Amino acid sequence: MSPSWQVELVAIGSVTPSVLAHLREGLAGILACPVWIATLHVDPKPFFDPRRRQYAAHSILEHLLNPPPNEAVHRIGVTELDLFLPVFTHVFGAAQLGGPVAVASLHRLRPEFDGSLPDVLRMHQRLLKEVLHELGHTLALVHCRVPWCAMGASRLPEHVDLKDSSFCNPCADRIGIQKMDLE
Ligand SMILES: [Zn+2]
Ligand SMILES: [Zn+2]
Repeated sequence: MSPSWQVELVAIGSVTPSVLAHLREGLAGILACPVWIATLHVDPKPFFDPRRRQYAAHSILEHLLNPPPNEAVHRIGVTELDLFLPVFTHVFGAAQLGGPVAVASLHRLRPEFDGSLPDVLRMHQRLLKEVLHELGHTLALVHCRVPWCAMGASRLPEHVDLKDSSFCNPCADRIGIQKMDLE
């Protein structure tokens, strides 16, 4: 049984095509629902805050809501730009709790951001987990205490590495994902 919702990925600014392709494939495999990449991408200039030299995640969410996605579609912005929310120095992503839109950034999830060696596999995995996390919020999931669950809170990229790219059973149940018994 597949979930009744679908996922649309929207590039905010330029995003490496292979990043989006890997993400789409990863999400489709885990969620067993339609996942596609929107043909239009969003110009990020209006969301730039010159004082912080970052992009306003809350303004991007507003933009993604206009026009709202079709019913059952969850629209997730994906960006390589550095995001902030007014009360935080930076965020990996943001979402409307129980709403249809979210955004996730690769900027601080790239291993080279903190001086580590580039690691493409780790980068793809981190982004996939971050997008699953924000998608979960759009499906009204709150933070989960199961250490490996994608809905665990992460302040650092290393925290993201400790999570699995899937939801624990109670979280999966709440959003209607059928889990394999074999894992
Ligand atoms: Zn969260
Ligand atoms: Zn969970």
